[in-house]
Amino acid sequence: MTTPIESVLSIGTNIGDRLTNLQRAVQMLNENDQIELTSLSSVYETEPVGGVEQQSFYNITAVIQTTLSAQELLDYLHEIEQALHRKRIVHWGPRTIDLDIIYYDRQHIQTATLTVPHPEMANRRFVLAPTLEALASDDEHYDEVAHLLQVTPDRNWIKKKFSNEVLMWTK
Ligand code: ATP
Ligand code: CA
Ligand code: CA
Repeated sequence: MTTPIESVLSIGTNIGDRLTNLQRAVQMLNENDQIELTSLSSVYETEPVGGVEQQSFYNITAVIQTTLSAQELLDYLHEIEQALHRKRIVHWGPRTIDLDIIYYDRQHIQTATLTVPHPEMANRRFVLAPTLEALASDDEHYDEVAHLLQVTPDRNWIKKKFSNEVLMWTK
């Protein structure tokens, strides 16, 4: 038997029905036998970056226990992205959903397809704020995330929009 590993996932969406996109992503995480959701943040509304004609983003952090390897987890996150993209988006463009691996245990991973911890986390309030909320205060990553949130140069706005109950998640 493989011992489950804690991983922290950042999930964001700014196309279509953003709440439904998050709900479906959470549901698909739940459906995988090798993933157990242990904590979900509130839903945060965050400032769109880049393009002018973008809606704001909704962002959450999910803390999971998983027996998948980091690469297998990434593959499954891509399956979720594809399942959600297929619904509405025909041409290339912004995605209905983006799932990133922020942490995978304490491992530092650097491969052609995966960099963990996520290299941009320190520059993203929309990752740090929900992550701090989702982590237990005795979690091995808690102090680092709290520190990064204090010193991040990111000045984009972010606000708590809905409690995690809207994600219809039951432990
Ligand atoms: P960013 O990584 O800056 O948030 P992005 O999420 O928009 O950018 P994508 O187009 O979703 O980028 O992903 C491109 C590739 O990044 C993925 O196919 C994946 O192989 C790679 N990748 C590297 N590290 C990670 C990680 N920690 N989590 C998710 N994908 C990663
Ligand atoms: Ca991303
Ligand atoms: Ca991504």
